[in-house]
Amino acid sequence: MTDVATMEKIVSLCKRRGLIFPASEIYGGIANTYDYGHYGVLLKNNVVAQWWKAMIQERDDIVALDSAIVQHPRTWEASGHLAGFTDPLVQCLGKCKQRFREDHLREAAIERGEDPEALRCPVCGGELSEPRQFNLMFETHVGPAADSASTVYLRPETAQGIFLDYKTTLQYSRKRPPFGIAQVGKSFRNEITPGNFIFRTLEFEQMEMEFFVPPAEAQQWHEHWLEQRMEWYAGLGIDREKLRLRPHGADELSHYSSATSDIEYLYPIGWSELEGIANRGDFDLRQHQEHSGEKLEYVDQQTKERYLPHVIEPAAGLGRTVLALLCDAYDEDEQGGEQRTVLRLHPKVAPIKVAVLPLLRKDGHPELAREVYEELRRRMSAEYDSGGHIGKRYRRQDEIGTPFAVTIDHQSVEDHTVTLRQRDSLQQDRIAIADLAGELEERIR
Ligand code: ATP
Repeated sequence: MTDVATMEKIVSLCKRRGLIFPASEIYGGIANTYDYGHYGVLLKNNVVAQWWKAMIQERDDIVALDSAIVQHPRTWEASGHLAGFTDPLVQCLGKCKQRFREDHLREAAIERGEDPEALRCPVCGGELSEPRQFNLMFETHVGPAADSASTVYLRPETAQGIFLDYKTTLQYSRKRPPFGIAQVGKSFRNEITPGNFIFRTLEFEQMEMEFFVPPAEAQQWHEHWLEQRMEWYAGLGIDREKLRLRPHGADELSHYSSATSDIEYLYPIGWSELEGIANRGDFDLRQHQEHSGEKLEYVDQQTKERYLPHVIEPAAGLGRTVLALLCDAYDEDEQGGEQRTVLRLHPKVAPIKVAVLPLLRKDGHPELAREVYEELRRRMSAEYDSGGHIGKRYRRQDEIGTPFAVTIDHQSVEDHTVTLRQRDSLQQDRIAIADLAGELEERIR
């Protein structure tokens, strides 16, 4: 079976229906930067809500945090980001002068069975410069003078804020290892290669959790989180066949990690990272302990044992999850001789759960439809739409992934029943208005 979802179609649907579109468009746009419109925001919010549900509602061993984006600059000295958060950059010395990540070119060459030591520009075939290490952190300044004493950084990951607050959290939360701290927020990276829509952007939201464990339990918790996180994506409705775990080779591991596996999704651009799950050992706590002088060891009250906890980190990207959901849900079929585009999103992430549509703009249809809508919106995200031909209205809802549509017609006015249309099967059931909300809640679950 060939996949109908291409990146071009997804990008075009997102723009057409106002989910996601290029930022600063009236000025010609800005590289690798996108804005989320109404339905995109709702979709994102639903994903984040599912993440929090899995992290804190369904568990007792994780607490929430929202730390600052700009932290003390020494944070990044201790974390290794100032010295080591770099990508190797090469520039084409031929015609096109474009810049590329050398590591990406190498990987592609190896995949094609070519010599990674004889790289050429993939666009014009020109010679490439020697690689230059390029730091991905955005710098800015605090205060009126832009001197080196005032330099601060926009965080390139949310994780470090968690390490800085580890001790405070341990004290107030009455938790002991194994326990976790979870955070969702924006991170910033000066990405210089083309981003493939929202896959790689300059600013992006991360959903990160640091799980602090006794050192001897690290491996077992790493395995636990690999499994939990795979299940979470499958639970959002993503096709299991398009999800895989890929352990990092020794040459790929980050400076802090003793083992990392990526959860990858088969995007239209190929298998690519959705989430990284690393065993960070005690690297971060040890570094911050040394650089700050603050004792970060945990003392077990019962055994009197003292240790720096090891950390397991599932680090997910919200944009990449949204992109995976869109690619996975995108489908086309034929209805009555007409092509239909449909997002087969799981109801729990769909921006709108139900659309209420009066068949006509007269004969009492709009009034009754409005009543039904007012009732439903108290219980779920609903939309009222009376504009245009009914077929067009259905198609619009199909394109934003609304799983159910309720139509109010002549019969509704007479006997207080409606038709409930299902997005995927197109099955239509006649249902009493009094039973509608309960029936929908049942089907959404
Ligand atoms: P890549 O190798 O693709 O650059 P990474 O390994 O550097 O990613 P991590 O530092 O592990 O990424 O960050 C954790 C998660 O944050 C990633 O799995 C991804 O979902 C998300 N992420 C990282 N960088 C970006 C970006 N520039 N745009 C969107 N999401 C990102």
